[in-house]
Amino acid sequence: FVAGKRKATEVAHAVWRSIVQRGDTVVDATCGNGNDTFALLKMVSDDTGRGRVYGMDIQDSAIDSTASFLKMAVDSREMELVELFAMCHSRMEDIVPKDSPVRLVAFNLGYLPGGDKTIITVPETTELALQAASRIVSSGGLISVLVYIGHLGGRDELDIVESFASSLPADAWVSCKFEMINRPVAPVLVLLHKK
Ligand code: SAM
Repeated sequence: FVAGKRKATEVAHAVWRSIVQRGDTVVDATCGNGNDTFALLKMVSDDTGRGRVYGMDIQDSAIDSTASFLKMAVDSREMELVELFAMCHSRMEDIVPKDSPVRLVAFNLGYLPGGDKTIITVPETTELALQAASRIVSSGGLISVLVYIGHLGGRDELDIVESFASSLPADAWVSCKFEMINRPVAPVLVLLHKK
């Protein structure tokens, strides 16, 4: 996963690609500027119109930014595979259809790059969202959490994510963590794989 990759996001995308298949349903829990939503859309879309990306962000401006980016970057056929919602990710179960097995729920925590740095993911709702994600992700699926530890509150958020990861029963989940140990404040990638 790591060969040639300098950024934790690139490592995360490589991991996603190893799990996500064309036609899958996936969730982007933190759309931001839409880079992850775009990457996920390219992983799930196929010629038959299957594949769905449910994206959410607490900020209207992030949803607008994601929608603008996608409109420029993908065709109308692929655009139809994406649904975007301005809402807290702790409520993801309200929008993902119950009969859709979810292969991946992706979190890219922190604040919107280029946006208001005071609007940031917080441990309380992150924990609720992780619980929701663990209920909707299918067997063989993955919850991927990228945690930025360089900003204020980032380490507290990592504590919550790690505590949730370690609470998952080992017979049903593999919880692991990817850290760049020669870059101590680089984002940490926590991966929760449902058996
Ligand atoms: N994935 C994005 C991309 O590719 O550009 C980057 C995401 S950015 C690091 C984190 C995002 O989480 C911000 O856009 C922020 O508005 C959003 N966010 C903060 N709290 C949230 C919440 N409770 N529910 C959903 N999104 C939230």
